[in-house]
Amino acid sequence: MYFVRIPGIVKSLYPSIIWDVPDATQQLFLTFDDGPHPEITPWVLKQLKKYDAKATFFCLGKQAENYPELVQQIKAEGHRIGSHGYAHLNGWKTNDEVYHSDVMKSIEILPLNNQEKKIFRPPYGKIKKSQLSIIHASFSIINWSLMPGDFDASISSEKCLKRLLTAKSGDIIVLHDNKLSRKHVQFALPAFLAHYKEKNYTFDTLDI
Ligand SMILES: [Zn+2]
Repeated sequence: MYFVRIPGIVKSLYPSIIWDVPDATQQLFLTFDDGPHPEITPWVLKQLKKYDAKATFFCLGKQAENYPELVQQIKAEGHRIGSHGYAHLNGWKTNDEVYHSDVMKSIEILPLNNQEKKIFRPPYGKIKKSQLSIIHASFSIINWSLMPGDFDASISSEKCLKRLLTAKSGDIIVLHDNKLSRKHVQFALPAFLAHYKEKNYTFDTLDI
């Protein structure tokens, strides 16, 4: 069970997390979690280039370790890199010390050091308040406002696209460049980009 659109009550429980970009004008913020993946990330990058779209990639340290050239490609093509931790830990089930060192390990692998403010997305969006305050020392923490369920095998790809087409200016949209989400993303991403480009929206990196 997950929220397609994050309710205001959830956002207000975690005011220090960034859920959307309220002052945006005709802007959408695509984010891709769990990559880089050798088959899927290059395909995603190609689609983004085709529609002149920029996005933010919350990379996993362990994936970046295996595919450093893909991380460099993401960066070289003008997208932003954020951390999604090293080993995709669930904060609710992990003690603070282990959680913190997992995130710090990702810093050593990902090219984040030249960024004024680093950005981090907690795996599953699940993070304890005690972990939040530790991670905040080094990162802005970013979740999302719209989750179309690209990982959800119980919905059709058409349904995933339909959810994506409810996006409005300022939305932070979470997708995944991983195997689980491949089918829905390959169906829905090009149609989504074409739809909003036609309406003169821009797709931008999170400038936070
Ligand atoms: Zn993830």
